[in-house]
Amino acid sequence: MRTLTILGATGSIGTSTLDVVARHPERFRVHALTGHRRVELLAEQCVAVRPARAVVPDAAAAQRLRQLVGDLRLQIDHGENALCEVAAEAEIVMAAIVGAAGLPSALAAARAGRQILLANKEALVMGGQLFVDSIARHGATLLPIDSEHNAIFQCLPRGRDTSHAADGIARVILTASGGPFRETPLARLAQVTADEACAHPNWVMGRKISVDSATMMNKGLEVIEARWLFDIAPEQIEVVIHPESVIHSMVSYLDGSVIAQLGNPDMRTPIAYALAYPERIAAGVAPLNLAEVGALHFQAPDFKRFPCLRLAQEALVAGGSAPVVLNAANEIAVDAFLSGRIGFQAIAATVGAALARLPVRSADSLDELVAIDAEARGVARALVELAK
Ligand code: NAD
Ligand code: MG
Repeated sequence: MRTLTILGATGSIGTSTLDVVARHPERFRVHALTGHRRVELLAEQCVAVRPARAVVPDAAAAQRLRQLVGDLRLQIDHGENALCEVAAEAEIVMAAIVGAAGLPSALAAARAGRQILLANKEALVMGGQLFVDSIARHGATLLPIDSEHNAIFQCLPRGRDTSHAADGIARVILTASGGPFRETPLARLAQVTADEACAHPNWVMGRKISVDSATMMNKGLEVIEARWLFDIAPEQIEVVIHPESVIHSMVSYLDGSVIAQLGNPDMRTPIAYALAYPERIAAGVAPLNLAEVGALHFQAPDFKRFPCLRLAQEALVAGGSAPVVLNAANEIAVDAFLSGRIGFQAIAATVGAALARLPVRSADSLDELVAIDAEARGVARALVELAK
C-alpha cells in the first residue's frame, strides 16, 4: 500500500488518476487531494476516496468544502503552503496542476525526496535546471506523465543513468497530432473560436493545454520538457506530426533502430505506468486495434502555421529566462484567447513580442523564476491590451 497525493485532482489528469487508482484499491491509499475552482467535484472525490487532507485556494473555498463534506474526517487547508505540505507528505505525488502555479508544490515534492509523477510540464519549462538538481540532491524520482515523455521513457533502456552516449541514443522523436487546425486554411485562423480550439481531434484535456495543442506551443513546451527529463541536447529533439496519435513518441538509436510506444490515446496508460512503475497494471484502456486504425501518417511541422513551436525551440537554445518568459506570456495570451479578448494568432504574436522585449538573463533560483514570471506576465498583459 503506497500513499498518494494528487495535486490538481479535479482536472483532466487528476480525474483520470483517480479512475486508475479506483481499479487498484489494494495498491494505493490517497493521502491528499487538491482543487482550485471546482469545489463541488473535490467534495465528491473526498467522499469517494476519503483522503486525510484536502487543499483549496482560499478560506471561502475551505468553508464551502467543509459544508459539502459534512462531518467527514478530513483536514481542510488553503493556500500555497498547504499545497507544498501535502506534496511533501505522500510517497507518490501526482503533479497535475496546470501552469506556473504548479511549480512550488512540485518543487516541494522534489525537496522531500518523493516519487513525482509529473504532468505539469510548465514546472519543468520554467525551472528545468533547478528542478532536476533538486531531484538529484534529495534522492527524489521523476516519472513523466506527458504521453510523449512517458513513451520515450518506456523506449529507453530500463534503469539507465543519465550518460546517454553510453546508451547509443541518436535522438528522441516527439509525435504531435497537429491539433484541430492542422489543415484549416491559414486565412481562417484569425477567426477560430476558443471552443473550436478546444475540440481536439484525439484527446480530451483541460482548456489551456487544448489551446496549446492547437498552436503547437504544447509541443514546444514538450521539447523543453524533454531536454530536462532526458538530459538531451536541443538538436537531438525532433518533432513530427502524426495525426492518428497512436505512436506516442520514439527513440532513435545510433545503430539505426527506432523504438516506439503505441497505444490508444488515453492518458490512463501513462498514468498507470508511472503509478505502478516498474510493474504494469490495468488502466481501463481499450486495446489498440491496428487493423481498425489502418494507416499511420507522418509529416514535418509547418512553422508558418505553428510559429509557437519555433519560438519554444529558440527559447530553449537561448536558455536562462527565455523559457520562463515564453511560458508566462503564453499563459496570459491563452487566457486572453479563451475569454475572447484576442484572436488565435495573437497568441504567438504576444509570446514573440514578450520574448523580444525582455532580454535573456540568468534564472537560477525559485525567487528569480518567480520574479521573471511576474515581469513577463506584466509585459504580456500590456501586449494583450494593444492586440485587442
Ligand atoms: P485541467 O485544467 O483539467 O486541471 C488543472 C488542475 O489544476 C485542476 O485540478 C485545477 O483545480 C488545478 N489548478 C488550476 N489552477 C490552479 C492554481 N492556480 N492553483 C492550484 N491549483 C490549480 O488541466 P489538465 O488538462 O488536467 O492538465 C494539468 C497539467 O497536466 C497541465 O500542466 C498539462 O499541460 C498537463 N498535461 C495534461 C494532459 C491531458 O491530457 N489533460 C496531457 C499531458 C500533460
Ligand atoms: Mg503531451
